Amino acid sequence: MGETTEQSDDRLHRRGLMFILSSPSGAGKTTLSRMLLAKDTEIKLSVSATTRTPRLGEIDGVHYHFVSDAEFDQMVEEDDFYEWAHVFGHRYGTPKGKIRAAMKDGQDFLFDIDWQGTQQLYQKDQQDVVRVFILPPSIEELHRRLAGRATDSDIVIAARMERARAEISHWDGYDYVIINDDVNLCFEKVHAILEAERMKRARQTGLIPFVRGLMGGH
Ligand code: 5GP
Repeated sequence: MGETTEQSDDRLHRRGLMFILSSPSGAGKTTLSRMLLAKDTEIKLSVSATTRTPRLGEIDGVHYHFVSDAEFDQMVEEDDFYEWAHVFGHRYGTPKGKIRAAMKDGQDFLFDIDWQGTQQLYQKDQQDVVRVFILPPSIEELHRRLAGRATDSDIVIAARMERARAEISHWDGYDYVIINDDVNLCFEKVHAILEAERMKRARQTGLIPFVRGLMGGH
C-alpha cells in the first residue's frame, strides 16, 4: 500500500514551469490571469515589484509589491530581480524570491510581464519558460476597450492605442498566440497549453525512475 503511494508520487514528480502571459492592455490578460489562478491550484502568480502607484482595489503584496524608486534601486543593486524593465514611465521587476526552489518541487508560476521581461527570462532560462501572447480580435474592439470612461480625452485614448500597438509588434517573440474573441474560449486554450506543457518529457523528472521500474518489472 505504502509502496504504491510512494511510487505514484514519484511518477507525478515534475519540474515547475514559468508560464508567461503577455498582451497589450485591453486584450483581456488580467481577466485570463485571474481565471487561471482561480481554476488551477498548481500555479501561483509571481508578484512583481513596481514603482507605479496602486490603482483602486490593488493590494500591496497581492497584485504588486509597490515600492519607492529608492527601494527599486536597492533591489537592482542587490541583484534581487530575475528581470526588470521600464514600462510606460515606471519600473517593473520580477523578484527572484523563492521561485527557483519552489519550481524544483513542481510549483508552476504565472508571469504577467511585458515583452522585455519575457525576453530576459527566456534568455536566462529557455527550458522552463512558456510564452503566451494574447491578441485582441480587432483594432475597433481594442479601441472600444481602451476608450474606457467617457471622461477620457482623445489624447489619452490615442496614447493608449499607441502603447497597445507597440506591445502587439512583439507578438512574434512568443511560443503561442491566441486571439481573444471570446474570453471563455480563450481561457480554455490558455489552460490547454499549460496542461500540455506540463506533460513535456523533460519536465516530468519522475518518469525516469518510473519507466526504469516498468522496464525492470515482470
Ligand atoms: P500595469 O501597470 O498595467 O499593471 O502593467 C503595465 C505593464 O507592465 C503590463 O504589460 C505588465 O505585463 C507589465 N509588467 C508587470 N509586471 C512586470 C514585471 O515584473 N516585469 C516586466 N518586464 N513587465 C511587467
